[in-house]
Amino acid sequence: MEQEQKSCLANGGWVQSAAGQSFPVFSPTTNKVLAHVPKLSEQEIHKAIDCSHRALQAWKVTPARTRAKILTNLGTYLLDMREQIAAIISAEQGKPITEALGEVQYSAQYMQCYAEEALRITTEAIEDNDSPKHLEVQSRPLGVVAAITPWNFPLAMLARKMAAALAAGCTFIAKPAPETPLSALALGEACCSAKVPTDVVQIVTGDAHTIGRAFMQSKIVRGVSFTGSTTTGKLLIEQSSSTVKKLTLELGGNAPCIICKDANIEDAVQGILLGKFRNAGQVCIAINRLLIHEDIAPEISRKLAHAVSQLKTYENETTPYDIGPLITQAAVHKVARLVTEALNQGATLAYGTIPAARTDSTLVKPCILAGITSSMAIWHEEIFGPILSMTTFSDTDEAIALANDTDYGLASYVYSSDLEAARAIAHQLDFGMVGINDTAISNARAPFGGVKQSGFGREGGRYGIAEYMELQYQCISG
Ligand code: ADP
Repeated sequence: MEQEQKSCLANGGWVQSAAGQSFPVFSPTTNKVLAHVPKLSEQEIHKAIDCSHRALQAWKVTPARTRAKILTNLGTYLLDMREQIAAIISAEQGKPITEALGEVQYSAQYMQCYAEEALRITTEAIEDNDSPKHLEVQSRPLGVVAAITPWNFPLAMLARKMAAALAAGCTFIAKPAPETPLSALALGEACCSAKVPTDVVQIVTGDAHTIGRAFMQSKIVRGVSFTGSTTTGKLLIEQSSSTVKKLTLELGGNAPCIICKDANIEDAVQGILLGKFRNAGQVCIAINRLLIHEDIAPEISRKLAHAVSQLKTYENETTPYDIGPLITQAAVHKVARLVTEALNQGATLAYGTIPAARTDSTLVKPCILAGITSSMAIWHEEIFGPILSMTTFSDTDEAIALANDTDYGLASYVYSSDLEAARAIAHQLDFGMVGINDTAISNARAPFGGVKQSGFGREGGRYGIAEYMELQYQCISG
């Protein structure tokens, strides 16, 4: 990819900042600058919000069939362009190309899912059993909505918000993460090709605090969908109070994975590999704490060490790899800190080498830690790196208590060959999502989201579109 000055999609078309300001986007694999993107001013963001509001007037009354057709076109475009878009994702985010291709496909599934959901928006009639009044409930688009998205799935996190918002009849203005704006701008190009009307989708780039403040202070922006850290999510909750916005928050996770005594060991090992090391562990539903029944722990541990030893860490631009670099030096420092502290407090290195920060790269080789306990920071903080932390349990109640010992409640996993027992455990887990004998739980039709400090609201399927709609109840007499 050539280093170039990109434009962002705002205020009627592709624009630069009026002041000529921009910032660089780096590749974490090569450390090279891939492109520069505009740094819009607060005034330019407010102008974009006004444009969204003007575009809303026609979009909210555009027939659902037309909105659905546009979403279908968007899905087709993404699939047609999957190689090119995957190359952009991999270059700016660092994940292997095979994972990037999967992300494009997953994004296209959201377009198709919401093309269908757009056609299912209904008005409901309620019988008043005591009078001839007619009671009706209409679902209406929320209006102008904003999205703030993270860098770990730079296309999919944006695509799933955008698809649901457009299906609902909202106009959409998004701020991608500064580390990965190029995938978002590629989605902007998809919108232009799929004939999304002008200003119905805008992708704005610039300083996070400036753009965030403009979104949160605006009375025009009626909802904000955010995926990112719990710290930023809490700030957005505070900032949203002055204008009483509807929020959808998908925040941090701290996923436990319980491996019961009767689990199929081969399946569990494969599931753990995928559920931990995909995207170098930079996934909010990644396994953060592996809880293994003590009787099978030695076998699982041995098989995991062997499987992890087969994973290839990034070497150069031409050799395929499984584990890419972490997104920033700050991410490496966090991983190194959590591992070192855990080892100092009694955890042991079951496989690999202790991660250490390097100035020339953000690569971290995978390792496995045994004997983690709840007194360690690694138990409570989302590590976001290729480090598998495990401990053992002796009975199911203990495993459930350990799993629930966190402020987070996004994803969790259970492996057992007794499905009934696994579902009974799932029932007691305080998490928004549970994978049973499976760690590939993301699905465009299913409600993705968490409880506790992992946030609120859901994305995906009919649950996701509801976040972009409000109800109007009409009571009709005569
Ligand atoms: P992470 O630590 O994983 O990068 P963040 O919550 O910092 O998580 O980032 C997620 C998204 O939130 C990114 O798009 C980032 O630019 C944005 N962001 C960070 N701080 C703010 C803020 N104060 N206001 C609005 N958006 C923010």
